[in-house]
Amino acid sequence: MNYISTRGAGIGERHTFSDILLGGLAKDGGLYLPNEYPKVSADELARWRALPYADLAFEILRKFSDDIPDEDLRELTRRTYTAQVYCNVRDEENAAQITPLKTLGVEGGTPLSLLELSNGPTLAFKDMAMQLLGNLFEYTLAKHGQTLNILGATSGDTGSAAEYAMRGKKGIRVFMLSPHKKMSAFQTAQMYSLQDPNIFNIAIEGVFDDCQDIVKAVSNDHAFKAQQKIGTVNSINWARVVAQVVYYFKGYFAATKSNDERVSFTVPSGNFGNVCAGHIARMMGLPVEKLVVATNENDVLDEFFRTGIYRVRKSSETYHTSSPSMDISKASNFERFVFDLLGRDPKRVLQLFRDVEEKGGFDLQASGDFARVQEFGFVSGRSSHDDRVDTIRDVFEQYDTMIDTHTADGVKVAREHLQAGIPMIVLETAQPIKFGETIREALEREPERPAAFSGIENLPQRFEVLGNDAERVKEFVAERTR
Ligand SMILES: *Cc1c(COP(=O)(O)O)cnc(C)c1O
Repeated sequence: MNYISTRGAGIGERHTFSDILLGGLAKDGGLYLPNEYPKVSADELARWRALPYADLAFEILRKFSDDIPDEDLRELTRRTYTAQVYCNVRDEENAAQITPLKTLGVEGGTPLSLLELSNGPTLAFKDMAMQLLGNLFEYTLAKHGQTLNILGATSGDTGSAAEYAMRGKKGIRVFMLSPHKKMSAFQTAQMYSLQDPNIFNIAIEGVFDDCQDIVKAVSNDHAFKAQQKIGTVNSINWARVVAQVVYYFKGYFAATKSNDERVSFTVPSGNFGNVCAGHIARMMGLPVEKLVVATNENDVLDEFFRTGIYRVRKSSETYHTSSPSMDISKASNFERFVFDLLGRDPKRVLQLFRDVEEKGGFDLQASGDFARVQEFGFVSGRSSHDDRVDTIRDVFEQYDTMIDTHTADGVKVAREHLQAGIPMIVLETAQPIKFGETIREALEREPERPAAFSGIENLPQRFEVLGNDAERVKEFVAERTR
């Protein structure tokens, strides 16, 4: 399998899975995609139905990573997807399934279910891909005798998922910037209680945007970046996207009895990484009817799927909401879908994303390309804070099930797209404990807390406070990588 950039660079060059694993953007600023999607045969689909999660992950990933020997990949997926790692389940007996399907009830003539993706160490779906990434990085670095220093900024979910994936990994250090005293007590404890010597929590005296600006400033110092072997694990990483393809298959098998049936998925979306994986599963041949993109008040994606207009938001138009992991001004993985929508024409993708940089967006309505969105199964909807509160309350009262704010965005929008006879699967992207304030508002009670997290706020914390200063962060990194 060869990888190409959505903007056309490197056509005719060879890029393997391992080549692009540790990198970010392609050198022309595009995103990597396989030169074609591998197809799943009817025989394979039939055989995969009975596989445990780790072996299903092996079968899917090997189609994208033919430069990793099968026996190594199988070992990596079996080490990653265990009931011990994904242990924070609602029902103990489901732990072996890794991503259990919980049916809420029948609505609109069809079962409405949650695919539980947040049973990993940090209680958000990002663990599904990040845990594999940790093992893949360690494996690949060891093979080439290399080391990597991951630098990132976080306001919560991504940073902790990265730290829990990379802790104790050979050849890897993590330097994670977070805004000092701006995260919830629970999220702070999750990150800062890690005592692993390869994890460095840096509390910046500033807000999240300051942390992000520091990461950008450090990354723009190319000499420093190369010398210190700085890398990232952001959502455009291809391996993260492809690891997420697996649970669409798993969810499909759990919701159906035979491979003649079709299902729809609703995906609480921000950077379009999660639902992009659904698109890829569908392109591989998974019988998916609709891919429903659910956004919050930051509705860049909903606007596109309703109108064909992609318009990135200014920071003054980007809202801080109660589903904060979906608060985006632009969707960094969206270019992958646009590439497919335009019949994989890199010249047009390049032009459109130049327009994004220069004019803040583009319009596919006029060109007629937007009409093809339907062929790819995409529809969308948005939700507000009041919708989330109502949905959390309703699902709790009707189905005795507590859901988080992001999943609530999903359930709200899913209900607008139900079709009789087509099971609707909402991806559950986080557990309620991470967003306790809104749970208390909706239910007037405390969120459920998995046993492993009782009292984590009282554990000793390990972090360093630094001023809002990129040079100081560089010094900090350099002192620890000598
Ligand atoms: C990251 C995240 C999302 C958004 O996922 P994308 O892949 O960026 O679309 C939704 N919900 C939660 C809880 C998240 O952490």
